Amino acid sequence: MRITTVDYRLKRDAVLRDYRCGRLSRWDVCDAHPELGRIARNIGELTRRDCPVCSREKLRRVNFVFGRELDCNNGRAYPLRQVFDGLRERYRDFTCYVVEVCVSCQWNHLLESIHISN
Ligand SMILES: [Zn+2]
Repeated sequence: MRITTVDYRLKRDAVLRDYRCGRLSRWDVCDAHPELGRIARNIGELTRRDCPVCSREKLRRVNFVFGRELDCNNGRAYPLRQVFDGLRERYRDFTCYVVEVCVSCQWNHLLESIHISN
């Protein structure tokens, strides 16, 4: 099995820096699609990290999985544990995109992508 991870936290931090110094508006950074907000609210994994924009909520993580073999499950959100314990055993090649979301202000950003191939 091979796992390749791309970390987007530096990009996220740059976006937050631009927001805090006024180069980006709140509309620019708090633009979660309503469906993403709904998924985050219903099945997002609660983190210990406060929202970096509004500080009203703990962030939630949503893990979207894509891969040719997934068929009707392509693009679905899964708990991270299930990505590594269940999907990894059923599928040979897929990518999990981990997104952080605030269900209060709609802040969202891609945190990392995890490509798994067996
Ligand atoms: Zn927020």
